[in-house]
Amino acid sequence: MKYCRFLFEDKVHYGAVEDRDGEPWIVDLTRAPEDDLAFRLAHGRATSWSFSFEPMPLSAAELLAPVTPSKIVCVGRNYRDHVKELGNEVPSEPLLFYKPPSSLLKPAGVVRMPAASARMDFEGELALVIGQRTHKLKADADWREVVRGYTLANDITARDLQKKDGQWTRAKGFDTFCPVGPVVSDEIDPQAGVTIETRVNGELRQSGSTLDFIFSIPALLAYISAAITLEPGDLVLTGTPAGVGPLAAGDRVEVTIPGLGVLANTVEADAD
Ligand code: MG
Repeated sequence: MKYCRFLFEDKVHYGAVEDRDGEPWIVDLTRAPEDDLAFRLAHGRATSWSFSFEPMPLSAAELLAPVTPSKIVCVGRNYRDHVKELGNEVPSEPLLFYKPPSSLLKPAGVVRMPAASARMDFEGELALVIGQRTHKLKADADWREVVRGYTLANDITARDLQKKDGQWTRAKGFDTFCPVGPVVSDEIDPQAGVTIETRVNGELRQSGSTLDFIFSIPALLAYISAAITLEPGDLVLTGTPAGVGPLAAGDRVEVTIPGLGVLANTVEADAD
């Protein structure tokens, strides 16, 4: 199943995405895409998780980030070729950091280059969407049970501030630094290998396979959940392949994995 989150008549909707004559259309969901979604929406302005709407082409919808995570857990240096290009050692255990939920950006949203940085990079990544509360996942547990699906993310990074600050909170955490979407799908199998590509203004800049992960998805989930309880809707960004590089105002950056569509965003200088 694939799903998206979108605005329609001033309300936030979730919809299933299905193929109709070769085009993706949004149709009503028959069940909540995440375990606690009904709870979350019932405690917000809505009283029900399901708003009915007429089916519409995905291309006509005003898409939002498809998840509302309590946290975004990221993995650094998880592809061997990317570790090499930055001159780092292959890590003996996963390197974790956070991006704040305030950094989330919708598909087609504008990435704002902060005035404080002179070097802002793209990092195309596969993201895991957590489907149920996960604490200390055991090595022999069925990890697919806790992953609701997969989506695309761009781990935008102020590379100069990452070096200057000594830790990564600001460099990874500016508003708009986490574009996510356009859909969540459980119809791909990254364990079997999927190709992730990043393009800037149409030019291919990154091309990697999840078969080149240093740490597999179950290894990451076990390592992360040993320390941090993952909640439904949380995101795990699994790292970026080689080819990272800078973005400039006016650029259009696209991340793709077959089956997940295209996450496309433009870049502008921040106003102040
Ligand atoms: Mg990254």
